[in-house]
Amino acid sequence: MSPEPRPDPTPETRMQFLYALRSRGVTDARVLDAMERVDRGPFVRGLFAGRAYEDMPLPIACGQTISQPSVVGLMTQALQVSARDKVLEVGTGSGYQAAVLAKLARRVYSIDRHPRLVREARELFEALDLTNITAITGDGSHGLPEQAPFDRIIVTAAAEDPPGPLLAQLKIGGIMVVPVGQSDAVQTLIRVRRTEDGFEYDELLPVRFVPLLEGLARNG
Ligand code: SAH
Repeated sequence: MSPEPRPDPTPETRMQFLYALRSRGVTDARVLDAMERVDRGPFVRGLFAGRAYEDMPLPIACGQTISQPSVVGLMTQALQVSARDKVLEVGTGSGYQAAVLAKLARRVYSIDRHPRLVREARELFEALDLTNITAITGDGSHGLPEQAPFDRIIVTAAAEDPPGPLLAQLKIGGIMVVPVGQSDAVQTLIRVRRTEDGFEYDELLPVRFVPLLEGLARNG
């Protein structure tokens, strides 16, 4: 399936999109370049399609949300992805974050518990010729043991704590970013670095994500 036909964003819209990223602290040139090259338009379908270039989270299918572009930028920046990296994303959602990562990394594995979201994201990756992303249906809190270890791990749903299996699947020298928090309202994005001796944590910014839930979704 091809993305819904839609006009390309105007140069002015593109400039405003990039300006919002910069003004919220996305300054890494490689990240800005990757986000300039991935049109957010096709990742927002239906009612909210017209708002794809605004710096806000928007509803997608299955009651989930596509993250705010500046949060995508800040998380990607915090991940310090290099062109040799194998990255795991937990929470494919619309596929937008995975598409941005695909411009920066060697290979991206992205898992979601909603089969429908994975199917639709796969179709988009194919239509957009993003051949280095593998989208998988599953419970990402267990990680992806068959592809571990990973250079980078990004979790785009909020957990109470960084899930143990994900920590275990991070390479030494690797980085993980994950929103943590006990409630929907108060969450903090944290960065975890794995060293020879253990894990180092730092707090980055307050965020608001949908929760990381256990098991596969039943409703597609
Ligand atoms: N990164 C996405 C936004 C993610 S929204 C984007 O760019 O659009 C959070 C996603 O996490 C939802 O799609 C939800 O289904 C998924 N999710 C929640 N718990 C999960 C789990 N245990 N395993 C995999 N995916 C999960």
